Amino acid sequence: MTDRDADCLFCKIVAGEIPSDRVLEDDDVVAFRDIAPRAPTHVLIVPRRHVPDMHALTDADDHLLGRLFAAARRIADDAGLGNGYRVVTNVGPEAGQSVFHLHLHLLGGRPMAWPPG
Ligand code: 5GP
Ligand code: ZN
Repeated sequence: MTDRDADCLFCKIVAGEIPSDRVLEDDDVVAFRDIAPRAPTHVLIVPRRHVPDMHALTDADDHLLGRLFAAARRIADDAGLGNGYRVVTNVGPEAGQSVFHLHLHLLGGRPMAWPPG
């Protein structure tokens, strides 16, 4: 797999070719605010490398997976989400995935129902 998919929206955001409101970045991940927020805090955390979805990860990606969740913890702390928050990743069209570059949704700042729709 190449690091980048030429047609991928989030690859373009990672490269800075499409603007985004970044809240965190490091060598492995970039996090930016969702353009259509579903909660007061709604941040997308993505790997710099193009990975289509969570199911495309392999055991060799354990470090990357850890970095994605570490970013979520830091963003939740920075946003003051001590009362709780939700981390979601949609895998495939039936689950509602619409951008096929792996991303964690970090949602918080309001009460949330369970189960999700
Ligand atoms: P999915 O439906 O794949 O789980 O989530 C994709 C998310 O990307 C959606 O919540 C959608 O609002 C967000 N999104 C789509 N296009 C853009 C964009 O150009 N910029 C940003 N910041 N978010 C986007
Ligand atoms: Zn991509």
